[in-house]
Amino acid sequence: MTEIQENVLAEEIRMHEYSIVQSLIATCARVAREHTVERIVKVHITVGKMSGVDPHFLETAYRFFREETVCEHAELAVDIEEIEARCEECTNIFPVKDLCFVCPVCKSQQVLVTKGKTLLVTHIEAQ
Ligand SMILES: [Zn+2]
Repeated sequence: MTEIQENVLAEEIRMHEYSIVQSLIATCARVAREHTVERIVKVHITVGKMSGVDPHFLETAYRFFREETVCEHAELAVDIEEIEARCEECTNIFPVKDLCFVCPVCKSQQVLVTKGKTLLVTHIEAQ
């Protein structure tokens, strides 16, 4: 019983990555059509640490959904984007480590996330 519940939960967590991968592959298929290429060799994707996407689940979902698509033999290259923030008090821009959103210069907590939320296909290699 417990096992079944755990499996269901795991599926729910992955749903987000599944839908992202489906739209990723749809994008590749459209790009392949537009450029009249037969197969995609490599897909480069940038995943921000605050994008809400788990890169591990994303890769698992990708391997599952790429079967019999234009991406079937395409490698997925995931580029992780670190989190960066700008202090609204002193305008200092700093890397955010361990989700600590405090300006290292003036200790203000009034900070704005400037990087880390990206979820983007940056580059598609095709043949
Ligand atoms: Zn500051």
